[in-house]
Amino acid sequence: LVVLTDVNKHFGQLHVLQDINLTVGRGEVVVVIGPSGSGKSTLCRTINRLETYESGSITIDGQPLPEEGKELARLRADVGMVFQSFNLFAHKTILDNVTLGPMKVRKKSKADAQQRARELLTRVGVEAQADKYPAQLSGGQQQRVAIARSLAMDPKVMLFDEPTSALDPEMINEVLDVMTQLAQTGMTMIVVTHEMGFARRAADRVVFMSDGQIVETATPEEFFTNPRSDRAKDFLGKIL
Ligand code: ATP
Ligand code: MG
Repeated sequence: LVVLTDVNKHFGQLHVLQDINLTVGRGEVVVVIGPSGSGKSTLCRTINRLETYESGSITIDGQPLPEEGKELARLRADVGMVFQSFNLFAHKTILDNVTLGPMKVRKKSKADAQQRARELLTRVGVEAQADKYPAQLSGGQQQRVAIARSLAMDPKVMLFDEPTSALDPEMINEVLDVMTQLAQTGMTMIVVTHEMGFARRAADRVVFMSDGQIVETATPEEFFTNPRSDRAKDFLGKIL
């Protein structure tokens, strides 16, 4: 569903993505881990075309990434993204946050968008907050709304960039539980996270990045019990 072939990108002298090859199949959950600065966020942002790249190709569902305009808006709807910070519209209610995109980009009627939004808010456990504003919710609730908002666009793939790293510890699991459930429903997901429990539980594959390269790709079982590269061994030694 998502295919990256020999993708290269620089920030000035820094070769931040080096010959990246990655294929994520429909319904597959890929967890990306690696040291700070290894290029994980850049990889996500490049797939969503928030960053450009210099060579190679990226296709989503067989279509190359569009350059601009309407096609780009559609791509952004097809590729949901949830960041570390929740990025909700502060001056809109929770319900409005979830209905705006589908009405504008997917041309849904208000009634349809609201019905779907309420279903999704129920699924992520924040239906009681629908008429509140983001600042009235906890961080964990806001992040679950951000997930519902992305899902409301009926994305083909969901990207998560450290979605729990800005949360207080007691709120991390409520977000990871929603993500685990989502993985079980067959959503295609690319997840950058330091939550190794989630990786073990939900990932079909773990991709280990270091210095702009994909150094290792393995099942969670293989990766955590028997990492092949020295860089992965070193990284796991520090975090586990
Ligand atoms: P972290 O775990 O800290 O989030 P990361 O793996 O997500 O790290 P990236 O944010 O992708 O790493 O950054 C990769 C490298 O690119 C870093 O050295 C970073 O300083 C650099 N970088 C990222 N964004 C830019 C930018 N807009 N301009 C210049 N350099 C950048
Ligand atoms: Mg990052």
